[in-house]
Amino acid sequence: MRRTLHDGIMNISTFLKHGNPDGLLLQPLWDDLRAQREFLTSPFLPACYAFLIHLLLCAPFLAFEALGCFWPRINLYRISRTAEPLLLCLQRWVGCCWRIFQKYLTTVLPATALYQRVRIPRFPELAPSCSLLIGEVITCLLLFDALFFIWHYSMHRVPWLYRRVHQTHHQNRITFALTAQDASPAELLSLQMLALSSAWVVGCHPLSEALFHLLNTWLAIEDHCGYDLPWAIHRLLPCFGGAPFHQAHHHIYRGNYAPYFRHWDWLCGTYLGVRDEAGSKHGGRTIRRRRRKKSLGSVCVCAQACMC
Ligand SMILES: [Zn+2]
Ligand SMILES: [Zn+2]
Repeated sequence: MRRTLHDGIMNISTFLKHGNPDGLLLQPLWDDLRAQREFLTSPFLPACYAFLIHLLLCAPFLAFEALGCFWPRINLYRISRTAEPLLLCLQRWVGCCWRIFQKYLTTVLPATALYQRVRIPRFPELAPSCSLLIGEVITCLLLFDALFFIWHYSMHRVPWLYRRVHQTHHQNRITFALTAQDASPAELLSLQMLALSSAWVVGCHPLSEALFHLLNTWLAIEDHCGYDLPWAIHRLLPCFGGAPFHQAHHHIYRGNYAPYFRHWDWLCGTYLGVRDEAGSKHGGRTIRRRRRKKSLGSVCVCAQACMC
């Protein structure tokens, strides 16, 4: 009885502090997370969480690739249109997973554990309102996109940087979901730093920051998945480049430097026009898309070799 009364008083007090009902929606979730403070500040959590979430979010695409070995219709959505036997596909995934695991173990884990030790954890009493959470996540994504564009462009322009930092990522000319993190240790660390810096500059609530990191991981996987699926984010929101946009970068090693959005490449004249026909015929429906963008320095890059 006393506990219920205490909880009731706390709820009223939290409501008064929020000032509007929208702020209360995320409060129970945030209260639960705050109760796990010790676990959340564990030095090994960030690297383990990042690695496991990456694997988990890649899993549907592995299932997709495996299904494609038995059900060729799925391969209509492939951008590269190169299907291979199941055994080869599994070998490719296991090899890539092992490479990423080694880099996490030797570089990302020690670096993030050190960072977690020295940083002062923030656990504000109030959860963010939904509108604040969405606003902060979008701002973080836009900022990260701009910072990554500059960093990625520099790595391609400075030969030393390309060889030492970025070349490993380009060993995958045809990408698949796991290759989003198949990069040199220096590049993996630099990406972590850019993501953390973006959240720090925006001054995110920890809950918004967690969602931003999750979305960041998902968008990178989607960029590299090798499929142009009808429900992909870039199909719903054309401001995103998506897998065809980033696959074009992996095909010709220049242009389309931004990770998620198209605007920086448009503005800087590095946009590669993409004509993709993945998923053009499915279920009797024709979804042929032809995009010919005329921008400064634009090049047509088809998913398959073509005579454009
Ligand atoms: Zn890539
Ligand atoms: Zn690149």
